[in-house]
Formats: sequence, C-alpha cells, structure tokens
Amino acid sequence: MNLQNLKKHIRNVPDFPEPGIQFKDITPILQNAEVFQDLMQTFYEHYKNAHIDYVVGIEARGFIFGAVLASMLKCGFIPIRKPGKLPAETIAQEYELEYGNNKLEIHKDALKKGDRVVIFDDLIAIGGTSRAAADLVRKLGAEIVEFAFIIELSELKGREKLKDIAEVYSLVQY
Ligand code: AMP
Repeated sequence: MNLQNLKKHIRNVPDFPEPGIQFKDITPILQNAEVFQDLMQTFYEHYKNAHIDYVVGIEARGFIFGAVLASMLKCGFIPIRKPGKLPAETIAQEYELEYGNNKLEIHKDALKKGDRVVIFDDLIAIGGTSRAAADLVRKLGAEIVEFAFIIELSELKGREKLKDIAEVYSLVQY
C-alpha cells in the first residue's frame, strides 16, 4: 500500500489524553473503507505464509485490526484485556507506564505450548504494553512469531524493548 497516503489518514491530536502527548488517532483509517481494506491486505500479505495459529490483539484498538487479520488468515483471535474484563480464569502481567503501573490479562486456556502467534496493537510507544502481552503469551508456552503495529514512535525505542523476544513489523514510523 501507499504508506505516505496511509499517514494522511492518521490524525495527530496534540495534548491528548494529557499535556505533551501527541496522540495518533487511527479512526480516520477505519472511516475510509478503501484505506482500511488496503491496510488489512498489507498485513495479510505479510503473514499469509507464516503459519500463524492465532492473532493476539491488545485492548482496544488491537482488537479491531487483529480480529480482521485473524479472519483473513483463517486463524483464531485471542484478546488481551485490561484487568477484570475477561470472565474465565486468567493470568495477569503488570507493567510500567510513563506514570504508574498497569496490568493486562489473558485467559489461561487461550493458548497452548507451541502455538505460533502474532501480537497486534495499533501503535508502539515505549513498548511496555507489548512486552507485557508477550510475557503473558510466553507464560502459556506459545511462540511469538512477530509483533505487528500500524504505527511506531521510533524515538521512544520500543523496538529495543522487544528485540530479545521477536522481530517488530510496523507500517509507518514517526
Ligand atoms: P507503550 O506501552 O508505551 O508502547 O504504549 C503503547 C500503547 O499505548 C498502545 O496500546 C497505544 O495504543 C497507546 N499509545 C501510547 N502512546 C500513544 C500515542 N502517542 N498515540 C496513540 N496511542 C498511544
């Protein structure tokens, strides 16, 4: 796909959700059928021969794209959620944010040893969220084939935080 064109559909919202943050809003991508489809096709082409068993999506924007990708790849989709949202038995992983801590959860029976997964989120910043997601996936014995993002905030070096686990694939960088 034309990645310069894709950038035109990513809206920068200054000072959201707090002063100093340049929020990258992906809703204009979803709003445009052609761009959305083109984007999903790009991820599909990248993973179609990678023998992926599950796409693991991180709440909430990782669900939208991750679930579509799973459907295209004809594989399953596994949600990783914020605490207290998943109804059955879970395991949890804490991680650090710029300010304070957060936690992610996955269903204990979501993955098994040897499953090949892609971890999907809309954006990588400092990488703490994806690293916590990866820890959950690895605790269940699954294998991370790659981390996939639409947007990478390169200056924050999130890629470095993940390099001992798996490769990072991102479509556009800021
Ligand atoms: P991090 O753990 O720092 O890599 O943060 C990644 C998570 O926070 C992802 O789920 C992103 O959707 C969200 N996020 C962090 N920074 C931004 C930003 N500047 N714009 C949009 N989303 C962001």
